[in-house]
Amino acid sequence: MSDCIFCKIANGEIPSQKVYEDDRVLVFNDINPEAPVHVLVIPKEHISSANEITQENSDIISHIFVVINKIARELKISEDGFRIVNNTGKNGGQTVGHMHFHVLGGRNLAWPPG
Ligand code: 5GP
Ligand code: ZN
Repeated sequence: MSDCIFCKIANGEIPSQKVYEDDRVLVFNDINPEAPVHVLVIPKEHISSANEITQENSDIISHIFVVINKIARELKISEDGFRIVNNTGKNGGQTVGHMHFHVLGGRNLAWPPG
């Protein structure tokens, strides 16, 4: 989509700090990190939100979770654990209309801290 910032990041029009890339998925550092590790995992194809996931396009979701498993190990957050967040729509707090999964780690995210 031409006016979508994450499509522009996916096609290189807007620079990003890439962590992982393959033919279907891009992982890059969030510009405003909320944890020592805060990356965004996006499909390269424009999918607006989880509201657009159907039986037909849902393969991308399992691929994204396989990629998260791989990059979490590479970023050394697997052992202590991490949080995967997807915000959907207005009430979900989604601010960028291209589906993305936040992966946060490197500190204790549990509240209250255990
Ligand atoms: P949302 O609130 O939609 O779940 O998350 C959007 C995320 O995208 C926010 O955490 C925000 O910091 C990040 N973000 C917004 N614009 C850019 C950008 O141009 N580059 C990068 N790397 N992250 C961005
Ligand atoms: Zn897009």
